[in-house]
Amino acid sequence: MFLMNRKQKTQKLKVNKSTVVNENVLAVKQILKRFFLLKMANKKLKLKRLHGQKSAQLKRMIKPTDSRLKEADRKVKKSRTETERQAMEKPQASSAMFFQYNTQLGPPYHILVDTNFINFSIKNKLDIVKTMMDCLYAKCIPYVTDCVVGELEKLGQKYKLALRIIKDSRFERIKCLHRGTYADDCLVQRVMQHKCYIVATNDKDLKRRIRKIPGVPIMNVAMNRYVIERMPDAFEPMAKK
Ligand SMILES: [Zn+2]
Repeated sequence: MFLMNRKQKTQKLKVNKSTVVNENVLAVKQILKRFFLLKMANKKLKLKRLHGQKSAQLKRMIKPTDSRLKEADRKVKKSRTETERQAMEKPQASSAMFFQYNTQLGPPYHILVDTNFINFSIKNKLDIVKTMMDCLYAKCIPYVTDCVVGELEKLGQKYKLALRIIKDSRFERIKCLHRGTYADDCLVQRVMQHKCYIVATNDKDLKRRIRKIPGVPIMNVAMNRYVIERMPDAFEPMAKK
């Protein structure tokens, strides 16, 4: 009886113990569950907050001048002043000017001839091609553009000789695509685009304009011969003789 009782007691105790352990485990599980739930909720909140920030950042990325904004909220674009625009529109430097001097120059020389250069040459009784060669000690090819011919034609009968000289086979003709017969702009444009030319002119304004373009020598009539200006150093001693 005593023995049985003892056995029973231990059994009872065991049951008691297991129930206690079970209850403890349950409690811990519940606490853990609550903890995880809280954590999840926190995470969700954080995510929500982050999302809100991101959308705010996106909103900030639209420029105040954006056309999607209503006109009342939109900022009006400031138009640039004339001087600012001129500062921005700097012509691209030619690759021929990579060295200190223009590498595209060199015999045979391509010489763009201006109207008054032809007239001065006739006045001084100079043969254009021959005097050019005497000046540069190399083959020279004079080029006349359509607008220069146009200018000479406009000058009338007095300049018939000039027109006849231009029609010489040694003169090369260049076609013009622009309107009108104003040669100065045309020559400046050509010289800006192609660095292979020398400009022959006696016009002060045109000379001043061309001096601003790097790497373009200028030829003019002086003292009954041609003088070259701004020729790269290597050629200058020859030209000065
Ligand atoms: Zn032209």
